[in-house]
Amino acid sequence: MTDEMVRADDRAHVFHSWSAQGLINPMPVKGALGSYFWDYDDKRYLDFSSQLVNVNIGHQHPRLVQAIQEQAAKLCTIQPAFANDKRGEAARLISELAPGPLNKVFFTNGGAEANENAIRLARGHTGRQKILSTYRSYHGGTTTAIAATGDPRRWANENTAVGLVHFWGPYAYRSPFYSETPEQETERALKHLRDTVVFEGAGTIAAVLLETVVGTNGILVPPPGYLQGVRQICDEFGIVFIADEVMAGFGRCGEWFAVDRWGVTPDLITFAKGVNSGYLPLGGVIISDEIAATFRERPFPGGLTYSGHPLACASAVASIEIFKEEGIVEHARAIGDDVIAPGLAELAEKHPSVGEVRGLGVFWAIELVRDRATREPLVPFNASGSAAGPMNELAAACKERGLWPFTHFNRVHVAPPCTVTEDEVREGLSILDDALAVADRYYAG
Ligand code: PLP
Repeated sequence: MTDEMVRADDRAHVFHSWSAQGLINPMPVKGALGSYFWDYDDKRYLDFSSQLVNVNIGHQHPRLVQAIQEQAAKLCTIQPAFANDKRGEAARLISELAPGPLNKVFFTNGGAEANENAIRLARGHTGRQKILSTYRSYHGGTTTAIAATGDPRRWANENTAVGLVHFWGPYAYRSPFYSETPEQETERALKHLRDTVVFEGAGTIAAVLLETVVGTNGILVPPPGYLQGVRQICDEFGIVFIADEVMAGFGRCGEWFAVDRWGVTPDLITFAKGVNSGYLPLGGVIISDEIAATFRERPFPGGLTYSGHPLACASAVASIEIFKEEGIVEHARAIGDDVIAPGLAELAEKHPSVGEVRGLGVFWAIELVRDRATREPLVPFNASGSAAGPMNELAAACKERGLWPFTHFNRVHVAPPCTVTEDEVREGLSILDDALAVADRYYAG
């Protein structure tokens, strides 16, 4: 198999996500191991994006591959109405990891379906329709999940779902509330949420849906007290609190679930990606006892042929066991605190175009600006084509040097696998150090 053969079939027959089909030229990938993947010429890339921030355990972990092979030999598939050992075990392990009285799991194929069904659960439980979610968020590509999304991917999908209301979440570096301290940001963001609830009509709102740590839209870590405050507002008005942990969960933030960092218990947690590092498609909703009880006598109006797929569930069981035995969550936290944080702080000191670095665990953003004083972004919000030029040049400089970066608008995210080694982090940061010279050339401050 050659590069050309892979490209030929791809260009002729594969219709790609989120793309103008004639303007893309996807790179053929032949293999991957640990923190690296490589093309058909065996050029290796250090994967600082964990693909789509999902390969938390690293590529081709041998024990995880083996567990999938063993399950495939036993039972590949069985429909969701049956009970199955791996399905039950995966649900039990995930419930045991979740905080508070969240003890049941509805399995899906990925994150968007997890959010669709969390919304369905919240609406069924409360008898209300509206869902509040933030600008600067991503919740998935299906009808309701994309309508809940607060980034430009929603625009072309508008008006297909009803009752989705957006509000502003905290973002200290570009505070929508003109705050000057994290405390002010928390207080003002909570006041804004409370006002939104009151003016939308508390009795019409089924759920507040939040990414615990906003992922693609900026690695926005909530300031102290914010999530606790959201919990209180939800309790006061009988609103379901849905934490979208599709990207933030399963080690990414140096915790099993990002909410653990703040000791907050939502009513529903949605997960996907890191639960089995995408070795097979899997996602789901972890459900509180109270919401599960609503559907004890009343049927839950949702289902999927592959809900609780045995092969996917077996991979989740094995992945959770490996995480525990190899201390992967603890490793992610330590490498974030001890290596990535100081490394990024050095880059910020050295490169004028770095406006801010922020994050936790293996989940970081470098926000690039043209001027530190005005914080004018290196490229405008939703930049595409030539407007995105500086970011494209920066990404190309990384790739030339063997680093696969995750870029979004004016940011480079640092999101390697949770298993990344200290040496690999240093290798990636040193490439970023070189590549940031590209961004510095556009600095005008
Ligand atoms: N929620 C968040 C926070 C995500 O980052 C994503 C995907 O990137 C999704 C939901 C959608 O997940 P999926 O692409 O598996 O449907």
